[in-house]
This record gives sequence, structure tokens and C-alpha cells, in this order.
Amino acid sequence: MELSKKVEEPPINRLSHLLKIIVQENYLPEANEIVELLNTGQLHETIISYATKVKQRHFGDEIHIRGIIEFSNYCVKQCKYCGIRSNNSKIVRYRMEDEEIITRIKLLHQLGYPTVVLQGGEDPMFSTSRLVNLIKTIKKSVDIVITLSIGERTQEEYVELRKAGAQRFLLRFETCSQELYAKYHPHSSFKKREEALLRIRKAGFQTGTGFLMGLPGSTVEDLARNILYTSKFKPDMIGTGPYIPPEGLTSLSPSGDRNLFFITIALLRLLNPLAHIPATTAFDTFDMRGREKLLKTSCNVFMPNLTPCKYRKLYTLYPSKSRVDKDQWHFLKVDTTLSSLGLTKATGPGDSILPESQNLIQDKGETNE
Ligand code: SF4
Repeated sequence: MELSKKVEEPPINRLSHLLKIIVQENYLPEANEIVELLNTGQLHETIISYATKVKQRHFGDEIHIRGIIEFSNYCVKQCKYCGIRSNNSKIVRYRMEDEEIITRIKLLHQLGYPTVVLQGGEDPMFSTSRLVNLIKTIKKSVDIVITLSIGERTQEEYVELRKAGAQRFLLRFETCSQELYAKYHPHSSFKKREEALLRIRKAGFQTGTGFLMGLPGSTVEDLARNILYTSKFKPDMIGTGPYIPPEGLTSLSPSGDRNLFFITIALLRLLNPLAHIPATTAFDTFDMRGREKLLKTSCNVFMPNLTPCKYRKLYTLYPSKSRVDKDQWHFLKVDTTLSSLGLTKATGPGDSILPESQNLIQDKGETNE
């Protein structure tokens, strides 16, 4: 090995101390320190163990359950990694009728789900006025917390949706690297994405964000910067999952080490002790027990897919998703699967426990202006 390429093992004591001050003093590390933690395999078990303790301290053995309904797979965007991008002519498109969505949510409510995530592509047929009516009808029919995951809208639209009664919003920034963002998102930019995220928070939503791990072309440094960006944003919820390569693409990027995916979630837990962090479906595509491992360690949220089966296989954000959705985590078996892991289903809506978000929970959508 050339001398210039030789990677020196960082002093373990210094990194152990770094971990301790992250946990005990809420120290926010620099990106290069996060890179060192990610690159030091010797510490990975310790990182997971700390993350498990931190999650236990704030959430115990309780897992919040959020049912997801994927109501439309139409999208005007062309994110290159996404199976429902507008220029993918190979998939069958669907849109659920409003009545169908309401019926599904009533079923969820009967089954005891306190929250629902309404997720869809950026579909112009689901205009803001249509969504406002839908949200109002749902809120009149059942006492359920509504989370939206519907992409970028204007400030006025976010405010209208919040005032209609939706309380939470998920929007991943995907990557905070401007170059990578531009590469994977034609006609858009990281700056635009970040502005949308800020508009969501300003509209008074409990806000969730996160990124895609292991995008081809990304580095461990990119991963570290994404972890840091997320933590500085102080999200109420963090939704982060691995990039799943399309069939045929076998090589993963340097940041696509599967072990690193778990360490990333653990570091997010250490840096965001109070955030709600779901074990996302994508983890089960490369590890049959991926979500189980996360729920036993860093994550405190599980989001079963409650989209009607006839549509579920069409919401193909990435390969194998529909297969994973049919697995042992079927929504009727969630309780038994959790108890087999020594975990219990949390009661209540599972609002944000961040002190700075407490004012968002009771109000009816006042903006922070
Ligand atoms: S990632 Fe989201 S915005 Fe991008 S194409 Fe897929 S559904 Fe549309």
C-alpha cells in the first residue's frame, strides 16, 4: 500500500471520549468526527449499545405505530432513484378516491391506530383545496392525527393544510450535497428542497425529515454531513432509509455499506435523543430482520403499510418494496410481532416530545411569523 493511501486508525480513546460527551453532554460533533465514528468498526457495537440506552431512556419499550396509506402513485417529479417518477412509463398508475381514503382511515381508527400518514407523489390532481376538504372530512369523522407526505407546496398551501387539521408533515431532504442533489433531481436543487422544508416548519407542522443513505456517488463524508444537517435541523421525526439499487445495478457506493446504515440510524438517535425515528421498510429489503433490529435498538416508530392491497404493489418507490410490505409485519400481526421482540405498542398519538415543538401540538396551525 502506498504510504499516502495508508489509513491510520484513529486513537480509540479519543473516539470513545467523543461518544461519551455526545451522550452525556449533548455535544454536537463536527462532520469529520462523525466520519471517524462511521469508519471505526471497533466502536460500532458501542454506538448501537449507547443508542439503545438513549432510546430506552426516553421511550422505554414502547413503539409508536403510524399506519401509512399511499393514496396516489402519480408524481410530476423525476427523481432518478424513484420507481414512481413521472417518466417511468413501465408502471400502472392509480389514484384512490376520497371516499376510499376515508373508508380506509375509518378502518384504521377501528383497529386502534391513533395516527395515519397520507403519502403520495406530487400529484396535481390532489390539489390543496381537495386535500383541505379531505382532511376536514376525516377530522370530522374520526379522532385521528394526520401526517402528510406529499412533497413540495407553497407557503400558503402548507398553511391551508395545517389549518385544515393536518398536524405533521414528512419531507426528506434526501442529500444535502448540492452536486448529488442536482444529479438525482432534474429541474430542482437542494436549495429549493431546503426552502420547502423551512416552509413546512413555518406553517406550524411537527416536521419530519431525513435522507437516502448510500446513493451511488456519495461518500462517507456525505453521509456524515447528512447526519449533521438532520441533527442541526432538530426534526420532530427522522425518516431515513437506504438507497435500494434498481435490479441489475449491483455496485453500491462507498457509503452504501449495509452495516453503516445501522450505525447511521444509531448516530441519529444519539444526536437526536427525543426525535421519533421509524424503522423504515427499506431495511427489510437487504436484511430480513432489518426493521426488528432497529426497533430493538435505535428506533421507536413502526409504520405498517395500510394501503389497500390492490394498490400496494403499484407504489414501487424501489424494487422489492411490495414484497416487503407483505411480510411478517402485516398490520394485523403488529402487536404479536412487537411482543415477540419484548416491545409494546405505545398508546396515544405519539406527538413530538421536543420542548421547542410543544406549542405546535395544541394549536390549530398558527404560523411562526
Ligand atoms: S421521490 Fe417523491 S417526488 Fe421524487 S419522483 Fe418519487 S414520489 Fe415523486
